[in-house]
Amino acid sequence: MTSLVRFAPSPTGYLHIGNARPALFNWLFARRHGGRFLLRYDDTDIARSKPEYADAIAEDLAWLGIVPDLVIRQSERLSIYDAAAERLRAAGRLYPCYETADELDRRRKRQLARGLPPIYDRAALKLTEEQKAAFEAEGRKPHWRFLLEARDVTWDDLVRGASHVDCASLSDPVLVREDGSYLYTLPSVVDDIETGVTHVIRGEDHVTNTAVQAQIFEALGAALPVFGHHNLLTTASGEGLSKRLGHLSLRGLRDSGVEPLAVAALAVLVGTSDAVRPVASLDELAGLVELAHVSRAPAKFDEHELEALSARTLHQMPYERVAERLTEAGIPGGEPFWQAVRGNLTKLDEAKIWWQVVQGKVTPVIADRDFARRAAELLPAEPFDATTWKSWTQGVAAATGAKGKALFMPLRQALTGLDHGPELAALLPLIGRDKALKRLAGESA
Ligand code: GLU
Repeated sequence: MTSLVRFAPSPTGYLHIGNARPALFNWLFARRHGGRFLLRYDDTDIARSKPEYADAIAEDLAWLGIVPDLVIRQSERLSIYDAAAERLRAAGRLYPCYETADELDRRRKRQLARGLPPIYDRAALKLTEEQKAAFEAEGRKPHWRFLLEARDVTWDDLVRGASHVDCASLSDPVLVREDGSYLYTLPSVVDDIETGVTHVIRGEDHVTNTAVQAQIFEALGAALPVFGHHNLLTTASGEGLSKRLGHLSLRGLRDSGVEPLAVAALAVLVGTSDAVRPVASLDELAGLVELAHVSRAPAKFDEHELEALSARTLHQMPYERVAERLTEAGIPGGEPFWQAVRGNLTKLDEAKIWWQVVQGKVTPVIADRDFARRAAELLPAEPFDATTWKSWTQGVAAATGAKGKALFMPLRQALTGLDHGPELAALLPLIGRDKALKRLAGESA
């Protein structure tokens, strides 16, 4: 059976690096196991869900390299949830409750004051038909709770191994609000059943949900998918990542020029025993991620580590993976150019500087005119190749007696106008003899 995984964000904000993790864990799992990936918008909260966030999520996933095989929206599937809720009502597993939020709050406080766990006391189960009718006559509308069985739910977690939650310690969850709208819990199960999701991989903040949802799967007569709960990401100082951390949003990272492959690699390898290393593709990354090796401790996200990994990712990036982006950025450099400069980049955008150096105008820096003139006289005839630099500088050294920095720095400053940069052996053939001669003569060329 082919596996089907899903990523189920609520479109109530932009994705950040923390919630890109379940997207990536699922996507990489599908890639590795030849499965399919479903993007499901959990948008039953009409007030907070926005179409522009849904579009932004798809765009941000595409930036990471994730293109879903199918996309569904919960807001378009309400009748399916209504049917499932009806089945649960008929089976006596979904019951109406009339307490207001205030009443529930007071009850919780009383329980806590008496040293009791603040679990819903199921008072609504004891309501007579007359009492319910009286509430309705008062204008109250019921919300609906799922009747949990007071037992241990167990599963073999892809990350955490043998897992269990004692449902006797949980309140019966509200599945349907007073206004008839659905909370996350039921639609998620119904969709997982209807779409045939085989593996539910999500953050460990959902472990308790899994126990509750396992009971709903069973109440609806469906087999359980396999579950996996990965650790959560925190900031370097250990705080949870919030949607408000704009610069850690995927769009913030994209705008800052960070490589998407580096974001993906750090997101799934951070805190694992595999050192975080640059990868050449998501497929390579898929081969490195072992859910069973994901740490149980929170993973700390370090922006400097991301920047460093992003640079290392560029340093080893093959030309064919970057060609299109270079063209889009107005750098029609070609492979020799890319090979020459990639090792010097921290951001792809910096390639522009080097494209300017090889093809645009440079204002040369000439400290010693005689030296530059001697060097120009010794510049070999074209064609230039990777050996030209070496033979030329050997000739210049022999003629002038300059060596080391005193030899190379004036040549670099004359040819590039800068005192740092990629290997000149690689740049010189790209600059060409004509420009090199002009620059050595102190002309802007
Ligand atoms: N919408 C839920 C969330 O974003 C989905 C959780 C799940 O994967 O089931 O937390």
